[in-house]
This record gives sequence, C-alpha cells and structure tokens, in this order.
Amino acid sequence: MSATIIDGKELSAKVLDEAKTEIKGCMIRPSIAVIQVGDNPASNSYIANKEKVCSSVGIYFRLFKFEDGTPELSIINKIKELNNDEYVNGIMVQLPLPVQYNEKRLLNTISNAKDVDGLTDINVGRFVNGKKSLIPCTALGVMRMLDEEGIEVSGKDVVIVGRSKLVGRPLATLMLNRDATVTNCHHLTKDLAEHTKRADILVVAAGVPNLITADMVKKGAVVIDVGINRVNDALCGDVDTAEVAKKASYISPVPGGVGPMTVAMLVENVLTCYNAKNSK
Ligand code: NAD
Repeated sequence: MSATIIDGKELSAKVLDEAKTEIKGCMIRPSIAVIQVGDNPASNSYIANKEKVCSSVGIYFRLFKFEDGTPELSIINKIKELNNDEYVNGIMVQLPLPVQYNEKRLLNTISNAKDVDGLTDINVGRFVNGKKSLIPCTALGVMRMLDEEGIEVSGKDVVIVGRSKLVGRPLATLMLNRDATVTNCHHLTKDLAEHTKRADILVVAAGVPNLITADMVKKGAVVIDVGINRVNDALCGDVDTAEVAKKASYISPVPGGVGPMTVAMLVENVLTCYNAKNSK
C-alpha cells in the first residue's frame, strides 16, 4: 500500500483562484499590513512568499520592517496607526520577534477586527468559546486539506503532536468542534509513540525532523506534516515521509503540503476582515 499524497499546492491554487475572482468584484482593493522586526532569514522568506501570493490574487500587501532594537513603543504606534487606517483590512506581526520584545503586548495591540493571524487574546477567547472569530491560518489550512480530500473527522481519534498557540491548540479546538476525540502531545509527553500509534488522523507540528517514523503510525492512518525544518540546505517536515507513506492512507508532503494551504487561509482571513468591514 502507498499513501495518497495530499497536494497542498493544488488545493491552495483552487482556494486562491476563488479568492482572485472575489477580489476582482471588490469596490476597494483588500489590503494587508505585515510588521516585521529584525531580519530573520526564515521570516524574510515566509514574508516574501506571503507577498507573492497576496499580490497574485490582488491583495495590496505592505511590509513595515523595523530594525531589531527599534523601541517597542514605535512599533505599537505603527500598529495603532494601521488599526485606524480604514484602507487596511488585515494586520499581522511576523513571529518570532527578537527576544526583548513583548510578543503578547504587540499582538494585543492589533485590532481584533484586523487580526488575520487570530492571535489576540480576544480572538482566541472568542474562538475557544465557540463565538465568531478569526482563526490561525495553519490550523484552518489543515482542516481545509482534510475537507477537500473528503476525510471525515467526526468520531476519529486525532493525535496532534504540538500544543503551540499557532498550530496545536487552535487545531485541537477545530477538531473538537467537529466531534473528533483529540489528544495533544508535547515535548513532555511520556511515550509519544503510544499516542501516535492510536491515531486515525495524526498531525505533526513539532519542528523536529524525522520525529515520526513508520513504527509510530497505525496502518491506514492519515498523516499531516506541519513541520518545516531545514536540513543540509533542504526543507523537510517532522515525518519520515518515504517510510510512513508505505503505511498511511494519506500523507501531506513538505514542501508542498500544509505550507501553501496556510498562505491560502491568510488570503481568506484578509477577505473575511474585508467583508466584515464592508458589509457594515
Ligand atoms: P512551537 O515551537 O511553538 O511548538 C512546537 C510544539 O511541539 C510544542 O508544543 C512542543 O512541546 C512540541 N514538541 C517539540 N518537540 C517535541 C517532541 N520531541 N515530542 C513531542 N512534542 C514535541 O512551534 P510551532 O509554531 O507550533 O511550529 C511547529 C512546526 O511547524 C515548526 O517546524 C514550524 O516551522 C512549522 N510550522 C509550519 C507552518 C506551515 O505553514 N506549514 C506554520 C506554522 C508552523
């Protein structure tokens, strides 16, 4: 048996095509502002990709790049200015920030209505309480992948390796809302394999290359690899894809899996903000 490869590039192209058509009909061009502090090479490449994708569908993309060492107040003031700019629909702070910055304070300065990463305390609280909110893009991207492939979530044993605010936690909430039985593992989990072997759907978001080997996966499981690691100048995920693919029913590759879906969901979140503003 060999797993069906979930092609995130193809699925995201479909989402982006729909977005492009919708944007063509917009009276004003939807826009996003990205705040970057410092010059982290991985962040530079993620931002360049977001800019490429947003521009390709017609979203006006603006980057506000601050040198590491810029006073926090200057960045806060820029976010407040963007909050008040009626032509800016979405705002995001590229993470990680250099260590001396107060991430929570910066994120919570973003207007809840423009928080396209879904990371303000208010949006997270609304989401967990089942109220309308903006939701982190990677978690949305994983759910969309499963839906597009027709993979049922309800009643399934879902194991998520990782519990970050960006991926593991919001994904657990989305899965619970869809009636899955959810386990979140993390770096202090006693016996990781004991959990992963039970999973009907295994989502791995740890940032550890080759963390998941074939012996840790149930035959026929769906395996979604969120990890992005650079090993010997090549990108890889957290899963030993070649071996696990022999056992799984579906598997998402890295690159070309969750990554493109994440950016596609960012585009959708910008449109959600735009539509919420323009339907008032
Ligand atoms: P994070 O560092 O905030 O969280 C990692 C999580 O994995 C933590 O909960 C930690 O406890 C857990 N973990 C680490 N080592 C573990 C181990 N040995 N066993 C079990 N659990 C372990 O990272 P994050 O922001 O959630 O990102 C996770 C990975 O996903 C990274 O590789 C990141 O680059 C990638 N990522 C990809 C996308 C995408 O679009 N594809 C988006 C966001 C993050």
